[in-house]
Amino acid sequence: MKPRRSLDELERGVRACDRGVLAQAVTLIESRHPDDAARAQELLNRLMPHTGGAHRVGITGVPGVGKSTFIDELGTLLTRDHQVAVLAIDPTSQVSGGSILGDKTRMQRLAQDPKAFIRPSPSGLSPGGVARRTRETMLLCEAAGFDVVLVETVGVGQGETAVADMVDFFLVLVLPGSGDELQGIKKGAFELADALAVNKCDKDGAQLAISELRAVLKFLPQRRASWRTRAVGVSGLTGEGLPELWRLIEDHRETLTKTGELARLRAEQQRSWMWSLIRERLEATFRAGAADLPRLEADVMAGAISPTAAAELLLRGL
Ligand code: GDP
Repeated sequence: MKPRRSLDELERGVRACDRGVLAQAVTLIESRHPDDAARAQELLNRLMPHTGGAHRVGITGVPGVGKSTFIDELGTLLTRDHQVAVLAIDPTSQVSGGSILGDKTRMQRLAQDPKAFIRPSPSGLSPGGVARRTRETMLLCEAAGFDVVLVETVGVGQGETAVADMVDFFLVLVLPGSGDELQGIKKGAFELADALAVNKCDKDGAQLAISELRAVLKFLPQRRASWRTRAVGVSGLTGEGLPELWRLIEDHRETLTKTGELARLRAEQQRSWMWSLIRERLEATFRAGAADLPRLEADVMAGAISPTAAAELLLRGL
């Protein structure tokens, strides 16, 4: 077993962007051991003054849309001028028992790039827990000097909102396809997107999909006071459209910085982070203290008691 590093060593190592130490610091953050929680918080407190410097970009899309290929290509393009961290949020990992995201083999070039750091989704945590760890890992990466953080999530479940809530720019990858598929993405991710990228535009039908998306976007409210959601075409496979997309993402940041919206957005995110910590802690305390929980849950599912009555009973014991 590796010797446990002191907080001083962790702090110094992270600041010096020592990969081994950074990985160990992330493991500390992800740990569910009560002893580690206090150390993790102390480390974060110390590093906090050095955070906030990265361009934070969220990326989502259904499985198969080409996220890994896209991030591998975009990340490799970006490491020419940037230090790039790739983090993953996978709300399904709890269900499937294993992470389907963030696996280093999915981004083979980037995994070997000395200017990149890839961290898979922590497994075995609640979706809220995963989101918290990812947010804190992002801060560690910023303290280590990574100036671009890409946060990836699968376009299912709660991952999208959690990621949109911790980044500056939220990108939704979509496939060229029919109007039906447009309906599908409209419901969730559409409202969260700063840009929609039609991926695999090396294939037929992409131009049509982009035109359709642009037509739909005209009728949606502006995403921000100074930003309207854009639709572009990209190919993770050929790299087509990626430099243009990154320019768009930089343009977004410049615009929102000038208007003060970015600062407000980040302030709002800090507040929502605080609330998610409160919710997480309250729920954990509640679950630990509610002995009747399993029985009442079963009763609710069997229809023996109404959810309202069960919630009332449980909360009374709080
Ligand atoms: P993920 O599940 O969203 O991470 O998707 P992957 O990156 O694993 O890609 C799914 C499949 O689509 C793979 O067979 C890729 O080779 C293919 N693919 C990914 N990007 C592109 C693209 O830009 N063009 C084409 N033609 N195929 C792609």
